[in-house]
Amino acid sequence: MSFLKILFVSPEAVPYAKTGGLADVAGALPKSLAKLGHTVKLVMPLYKHVDRDKFNLKQVASSLTARIADRDGKFNLYESGSDVGGLEVLFVENNGFFDRPELYRDPSTGRDWADNDERFGFFARAVLETCRYSNYIPDVIHCNDWQSGLIPAFLKVDSGYSDFSNASTVFSIHNIAYQGNFPSESFSKLGLDGSLFAPGGGFEYWEKVSYLKAGIWYADLINTVSETYAGEIQSSNEYGYGFEGVLKDRSADLFGILNGIDYNIWDPSVDNLIPANFKPEKLAGKKKCKNALRKRVKLPMVRRDIPIIGIISRLADQKGFDLIEEVAEDLMALDIQIVLLGTGDEKYHRLFSELHKKYPKKIAALLEFNNEMAHLIEAGSDMFLMPSRYEPCGLNQLYSLRYGTIPIVRKTGGLADTIENANPAKGTGNGFVFTGYDAREMLNAIKFACEVYRDKNVWEILMLRGMRQDFSWDASAKKYIELYKKAIAKKNR
Ligand code: ADP
Repeated sequence: MSFLKILFVSPEAVPYAKTGGLADVAGALPKSLAKLGHTVKLVMPLYKHVDRDKFNLKQVASSLTARIADRDGKFNLYESGSDVGGLEVLFVENNGFFDRPELYRDPSTGRDWADNDERFGFFARAVLETCRYSNYIPDVIHCNDWQSGLIPAFLKVDSGYSDFSNASTVFSIHNIAYQGNFPSESFSKLGLDGSLFAPGGGFEYWEKVSYLKAGIWYADLINTVSETYAGEIQSSNEYGYGFEGVLKDRSADLFGILNGIDYNIWDPSVDNLIPANFKPEKLAGKKKCKNALRKRVKLPMVRRDIPIIGIISRLADQKGFDLIEEVAEDLMALDIQIVLLGTGDEKYHRLFSELHKKYPKKIAALLEFNNEMAHLIEAGSDMFLMPSRYEPCGLNQLYSLRYGTIPIVRKTGGLADTIENANPAKGTGNGFVFTGYDAREMLNAIKFACEVYRDKNVWEILMLRGMRQDFSWDASAKKYIELYKKAIAKKNR
């Protein structure tokens, strides 16, 4: 087998900076690729959030330049000095662009940073300059989401990159609803021939410049994070968010590879962020975690056998909170307790604060981003609710399986690919699944889960089945290597 030179480009990665699932993927997949023997470098921006001391960051180059908006933006290059599992992690430092309180959004206005076009246009060029500086022209550049969508485009349309003629590109879509669309004026900042910005071309999307479209249009191959989502985003506007046509045109080049999870971080038998460890052969620790969770979030112990339902999520429409809102009173009438951890839309902050005020014994609402709490909720809950409108892959249902916390999910995207409805009589399934985007269907699934929960033996069998499933990155990393090889073959055709 021949080994590849891979460059993995992501706007965020665990453990350095995270807003969502992409960071988990970028933190784990490159390590798994390196474990297979390939040479891997990961590049991301050096945000304010990255703890330079903790990760022992070392400056490896200074005063490199990347052009944006008719000026040469300067950047320094840093490398992680800590052991990162056989790969090199590089950071692009430009404090004007990246030393900010949030990654993509201005917290003082609640809106995206006004210069995101420049920030990530600059980042795309800086990544390519980083390759040049490091003398590293990869066989494949794996770009992720709109923030790196310009890289495949630059390589195809900018004649200044002839030294990358052997580099193929793969563009991964982690969520099609986040598109990086900017006013048409932004195009002139990219230093490309103006004629490239035209209807029916690779950059123009309803008179805007779309970095997502550029990635989809120009990458050698495209993929997304589950097979079902790959089909859904081509199928209708409801799932494709306007990109269904562009994706359908590239259907033959579009693949779905399920995300794995990092069991070094998310496994209750080794997790040091939870009060007691547990595993299929020794479940006692889970009860301790449940008690600790209840104490920590100040939910009273009404009865020992009331199930706790956990929710950890961005509070966004995508995640199905309007369904919860619709049947909130019915939910509160059930014999359950809910622990919610999340941040996002103001309207959902209000919804959950008010519910908590009205039903303090039934629901705890932690409106913050708190990784340690996320681990405790996974470990201490009995069930995990993800009623998503759409879900490219979803990670929390996979973490839940490993922690013996039974997922209740809507059948969409990666949730459909990973969770099978329980049939206690037949002894099949690993969770509870409802199909329609419908509050009553969700409520019925929760009621069914509560019914099954009452039979401790059946419930334990269900838990154990999920805990023993393997969603590690090993299988998916191999599929990525196959995908990279296809991209390389396509490039050389
Ligand atoms: P998405 O990428 O759409 O946000 P995923 O399920 O793919 O959804 O990944 C979300 C990741 O972010 C998970 O690792 C989840 O635990 C984490 N997460 C989301 N919200 C919070 C929060 N408020 N505190 C801690 N972790 C969170």
